[in-house]
Amino acid sequence: MPANKRLRTLPSVDRVLNAPELAGLIERYGVQACKLAAQDELARLREALRDGDGDAEARVSAADFQDGLYAAVQHRIAAEFSALLKPVFNLSGTVVHTNLGRSALPAEAVEAMATAAAGACNLEYDLEAGHRGDRDHHLEATLCELTGAEAATVVNNNAAAVLLVLNTLAAGREVVISRGELVEIGGSFRMPEIMQSANCILRETGTTNRTHLRDYENAINERTALLMKVHTSNYEVRGFTNSVSGQELSQLAREKGLPYVHDLGSGTLVDLVRYGLPHEPTVNEALAEGVDLVTFSGDKLLGGPQAGIIVGERDLVDRVRRNPLKRALRVDKITIAALREVLNLYKDPQRLPARLPMLADLTRSAAEILALGERLLKPASEALGPGVEVALTECKSQIGSGALPLERLESTALQITPIASNGGKDAALQQLAGRLRELPRPVIGRIRDGSLLLDLRCLRDEERFLAQLRESAPPD
Ligand SMILES: *Cc1c(COP(=O)(O)O)cnc(C)c1O
Repeated sequence: MPANKRLRTLPSVDRVLNAPELAGLIERYGVQACKLAAQDELARLREALRDGDGDAEARVSAADFQDGLYAAVQHRIAAEFSALLKPVFNLSGTVVHTNLGRSALPAEAVEAMATAAAGACNLEYDLEAGHRGDRDHHLEATLCELTGAEAATVVNNNAAAVLLVLNTLAAGREVVISRGELVEIGGSFRMPEIMQSANCILRETGTTNRTHLRDYENAINERTALLMKVHTSNYEVRGFTNSVSGQELSQLAREKGLPYVHDLGSGTLVDLVRYGLPHEPTVNEALAEGVDLVTFSGDKLLGGPQAGIIVGERDLVDRVRRNPLKRALRVDKITIAALREVLNLYKDPQRLPARLPMLADLTRSAAEILALGERLLKPASEALGPGVEVALTECKSQIGSGALPLERLESTALQITPIASNGGKDAALQQLAGRLRELPRPVIGRIRDGSLLLDLRCLRDEERFLAQLRESAPPD
């Protein structure tokens, strides 16, 4: 049959929509979405027929053409309405992975978020007095209790916290900062650019590897608004180095009558050493050194939701709150609900590793991870089929999100190596990684030395993981 005649055999959009086979779909998703999907599908077919596409011609002349068409419309709608954010297995070896959404939240926080989201709540309403309240009040007392600060406020993320503090305390004036601390954090947070956005003038001092107290003293002039220290969270300068301690800086700031701000980045409320992890400066330590304001993230080493936390002196926090930018950067009720639950867990540090998923993953023992690997090795190998070799290998996990970049945690990985003919090894590896990413719950690993490594540190649901691998086996 000539192409133009085939084209005329295609049904109209209305006829497709009136088919009883699609009634359920329309009932569920609405006629508008189904109409667009049918139009798209028919347009694609029409174009393929015009191009003389053999597959399309075979499809149109098949006896079950109509059924195939309905199925294609259903498929389009299902893809369009499926969840955008899919849960994944983070076997990348980076526990707090920014690209994978950072910290997993504890059950209490998830529940509180759902409750807050589901309806009206006293977000900015004082239930006792019966009038307008302040959203910051829900968190301030707890943050002060946990950090020893006088006052606290919360914004959308730590980048926002830094921006807001700089803009409040130093707009149009100079901020003195060491050249060794002009950090860039992934995702385009760069200290010099944040300064510019906050309308501050960056006054760098010292050198990349060495900055002395006299460098700060020399940099201070009548335009100086504040002294700033930034935790170099994602890199370390080694060798012939010097930086000025927090105590010295806070003393200098006090002598000159300037505020002193420390951006801690990851920021933790407990000394991780007590859980056998490396030391990361805590918020309490920074405040004890005499810092006036500390800024840190809610979803890095705190293990909470995305947020930026500002704690410190009452009058400075009040000034930050009065900045109109605060209104633009404020957090919503869902974040407040989650953060509150996470902070509450910190009131019992002893049980924290059992209750905070991020810390549970960071403190998971090498022996436990190895035992998990030994349980998985045989079934995983069987599930993945004869095209690959599966072995257990030692590996190192990292904390992630810039925290403690040089520290590594002992772990175990499934090492999957494709058995491919010469030359095709790289392609086979990419194909394997791609296949695992296509699973209903995508599995994210990392490639090392010709193998795909699945670091088992963050794997909790081993049943589901295995069941999926079995489904992923390529047809023989
Ligand atoms: C991560 C980080 C930030 C940005 O924090 P977000 O919560 O990701 O916005 C700022 N400063 C430092 C030092 C950091 O490590």
